[in-house]
Amino acid sequence: MTRPSPAAALNGVQVGHICDRCNRGIRTGDKAVAYGTYYERGGWTLRRVWCDECADRAISNETDGADEVLVEAVYWQGKLVSVTAIARSRPSN
Ligand SMILES: [Zn+2]
Repeated sequence: MTRPSPAAALNGVQVGHICDRCNRGIRTGDKAVAYGTYYERGGWTLRRVWCDECADRAISNETDGADEVLVEAVYWQGKLVSVTAIARSRPSN
């Protein structure tokens, strides 16, 4: 089965507005970066959200066997919009 594109799947998804690294609030219109992983049951699921300043730009600690993605987006009233993938780590098998 082909997996949906993470950018498409995460566009419009609801997120918290607190940066997971500096605990500052992300405001509507701010850029944000989010990390997500793919689950067979739940599809693409966001695990972390960072403000533009704290954001990771690459997946540094790859999880074995996991399909992971970093997306850049605009935070807009509780949701991520204009989502684009900036890094991806797919299972090697
Ligand atoms: Zn931050």
